[in-house]
Amino acid sequence: AVPLVVAKSTALSAKHGLLIKNRTAFENSRKITTVVFDKTGTLTIGKFEVSKIISLHSDVDDKEILRISSALEQKSEHPIATGILQKVKELNIAIPTAENFKALTGQGVEATVEGKEVRVVSPGYLKENNLNVPDSYQSDETETVVFVIIDNQLAGYIALSDQIRPESAGAIQTLSENHIKSILLTGDNAKVAESVSKTLGMESFIAEVLPHQKLEKIKELQAHGEFVAMTGDGVNDAPALAQADIGIAVGSGSDIAAETAGIVLVNSNPKDIVNLILFGKATYKKMI
Ligand code: ADP
Ligand code: MG
Repeated sequence: AVPLVVAKSTALSAKHGLLIKNRTAFENSRKITTVVFDKTGTLTIGKFEVSKIISLHSDVDDKEILRISSALEQKSEHPIATGILQKVKELNIAIPTAENFKALTGQGVEATVEGKEVRVVSPGYLKENNLNVPDSYQSDETETVVFVIIDNQLAGYIALSDQIRPESAGAIQTLSENHIKSILLTGDNAKVAESVSKTLGMESFIAEVLPHQKLEKIKELQAHGEFVAMTGDGVNDAPALAQADIGIAVGSGSDIAAETAGIVLVNSNPKDIVNLILFGKATYKKMI
């Protein structure tokens, strides 16, 4: 009778947007004490829209910042890239060719465009490379921001906004009612992270983390006795997903994330994580 209960629950889970690849992960779901969420595409919809283009250099206007950036973003699969390319399309801008393209994992992209060295990068990247973050940015940005560097000069920045999923607040609240902590772990800037985590009533947030730091954070939580589930969608997230007690890949993300994880959230809906934990509890209660 035992395998039948499991089989039934697994089928039920599939109906509820969960693909259980690894039965141990499902079995263990009832032990979760902390869920670490990535932001983009899980708690938020993951559709970025350009809200602001700011030029910081007299040689380049807003349109030029967008045009140069689009060359790099055309080679990227990040949701930020999709947002920038959408704007470029709306404005009918012709996209130049990018050569020597390179993804700077968790920090941005770089390439040569029309003979110029161009980088489109996170605020964290600027700090690490001792490039000054402009005061105007520091004072008022609560959106995702990418800086555009042309031949080592800070040319400007693009601000993009994303929306919190309507189901996220309820999911976090239900986890909290079940005494499960929710932590936001993101490569995005601290202001965005703080705003999302506060809006959703999460325990805490960790921002501007690089891929290898995601893995370290999971280890840290485990060392403190937490039984950790983590959601992720990117190639970046694979090591942390593997380290987590339960790795949950978000449906629309990369294949590598899905391969590493024990569970796939088919509809990218955070509410399905709550379902997973409740199913897990119900299933294994019946067995004991
Ligand atoms: P997340 O935790 O949201 O998945 P990522 O690690 O994917 O974060 O990205 C972290 C940051 O790196 C982004 O917020 C952005 O600043 C920068 N970044 C990543 N990819 C790109 C890109 N294609 N273009 C510009 N910036 C990027
Ligand atoms: Mg990501």
